[in-house]
Amino acid sequence: MPIDDTPGVSATPAAKWVSCPACRQPALYAPDNPYRPFCGKLCRATDLGRWAQEEFKVAVPPTDVSAENIE
Ligand SMILES: [Zn+2]
Repeated sequence: MPIDDTPGVSATPAAKWVSCPACRQPALYAPDNPYRPFCGKLCRATDLGRWAQEEFKVAVPPTDVSAENIE
């Protein structure tokens, strides 16, 4: 008698609904959705674009403290 054969538990890998980080709409988080955790291609592109911009904004190198001590 196999222990893992629990009735009601489907054999499909974890597919669940999450809210899309970009538009907050329900997005299917499953292997079926290549854009997970986003709801679709557009939202993923949007979010990645925004992320890249943020990255550019903070891409300024940290202040070189040694430069202030030169004088
Ligand atoms: Zn979305």
